[in-house]
Amino acid sequence: MPIFKKSFISLLLLAYMPVLIFLSIGFFYTTQTRYFIKEIVEFFLFSTVVYAFGIILFRGVLRISWCYFSISFLFLISFLKTAFYYLYQSKVTISAFYILFETTGSESSQFLATFFDLKLFIISIVFILFLLLTFKQLNYVYEKERILFYLPKFNLLGTGVYLVLLIGILSSIYLINWKLKHNNILYIAKDAYITYNEAQALFQTNLVNQRNEQLQNVTSLDEPQTYVIIIGESTSSRNMGLYGYYRDTNPLLSEIKDELLVFNDVIAPHTHTIPSLNKVLSLSNYENPDVIHCGSVVQLANAAGFSTFWISNQQPIGIHETLVTAISKATKEQFFTNALTNKQTEYDEMLLPFIEQVLDKKDSKKILFVHLYGTHISYKFSYPPSFQKFTDNPITKFPSARSREEINHYDNAILYNDFIVRSIINQVKKRNENAFVIYFSDHGDEVFQDMDFVGHNEYHATKPMFEIPFIVWTSEKFRQSFSNFEKLKSYQNRKYMLDDFIHSFSDLSQINFNQFQPERSIFNAFFKERKRMIRKEVDYDTR
Ligand SMILES: [Zn+2]
Repeated sequence: MPIFKKSFISLLLLAYMPVLIFLSIGFFYTTQTRYFIKEIVEFFLFSTVVYAFGIILFRGVLRISWCYFSISFLFLISFLKTAFYYLYQSKVTISAFYILFETTGSESSQFLATFFDLKLFIISIVFILFLLLTFKQLNYVYEKERILFYLPKFNLLGTGVYLVLLIGILSSIYLINWKLKHNNILYIAKDAYITYNEAQALFQTNLVNQRNEQLQNVTSLDEPQTYVIIIGESTSSRNMGLYGYYRDTNPLLSEIKDELLVFNDVIAPHTHTIPSLNKVLSLSNYENPDVIHCGSVVQLANAAGFSTFWISNQQPIGIHETLVTAISKATKEQFFTNALTNKQTEYDEMLLPFIEQVLDKKDSKKILFVHLYGTHISYKFSYPPSFQKFTDNPITKFPSARSREEINHYDNAILYNDFIVRSIINQVKKRNENAFVIYFSDHGDEVFQDMDFVGHNEYHATKPMFEIPFIVWTSEKFRQSFSNFEKLKSYQNRKYMLDDFIHSFSDLSQINFNQFQPERSIFNAFFKERKRMIRKEVDYDTR
């Protein structure tokens, strides 16, 4: 009987090995103990449900098979959770799943390459070793104490045990559902998948058409106009020389500073491409998040009689396609430079000949949307070797070999981005037309500024992830024809969140429509500063 008891205890220990290993490694990387305890409790309850379920349903060989399956499954979850704590010091979140949904194959592998460092490799080996060890011990207990896998017996006492197990399952599920579901990986995955798909279905039916019936009474000037909207990627204004960064990462834009309106206090509505551009490019905003399908900037431009073009250096294929390309499909013509080659990434200069070609077109009113690859992670792949200017030790609160390398790559990528944005401005400028160029980024990245971290993540939501450049270049002709142009200069310190971009866009393009709200346009005299709410009810400016 003592041996039997010992086997039972070691079986319990083996069953909860995934929880224990997560507890012992994750503990070192957690910053908020309270949340970590919730994680552990949820994982413990979830494991209990999985095992209790197997004990009730299966006996003997089937039960040991179930044990092997469950342990592998729970080890996998444990590894994911641990990896997230190691990489992000946070739990797995919906926005983490967005990363998976929004990146294409090559981006994901680059993403993994950035994060899969030596320590994570060692953690993976530890997990594999522990899994094998757990299997070996489980087999040992099974060989020695097979009776354990046939318990409880079908008698009165046994019925009692089954009842206890059933109550255990139900109360665990109740507890998880009541207070802990946001720690449950299956719930998070399901939630992310459903919301993502619902949104995509709406986009595919409403946003791909050239016109949208929700946009009414659209009027605009009847004269030649050329407007360019450059959508950047993962570029934080925090690392831009033009915004006061100590390194001169914007020599070319700084050179023409007098021709630019540099808005100093603009933030992205989210820290990920898809949720952010959802709002930036459509009528949707924080107050009304569910009206994305009611009209995009592209559809507005179409209705105003502009010929619209989409020129992108981001991958058109993969899951990524669903959102941004849905909006882009409403343009008259699309060019995807990245689709032309088999290379993983093309530098953004690939876009320039396409932009030239479109600017040459005879359409008198045209709007170009240019989607950059920008300063996407892995930073070292987003700029050519000739832009490797910053190689010394950067200033950071978090000095390490890794931060040094990442900051330098990021700053070099921003330097290259400076060249790209300036080149596009030059292309427009030399034509001497009635024109403007707007440049902004979809969100920023944290690169060891406020936190010992690289990348973007809505859980941490540090300021550099939100702080984005918002820059306007205008041509001589535009300045002359736009009424009260000089006034715009006094608006450069306005606090603005880019989910209202459609109103600013229509204002500067002098497109009027039924849903235009002047108080939401950064260019308007009637602009009203509003609370900049991020995540769920967090005031960005006072948090
Ligand atoms: Zn992005």
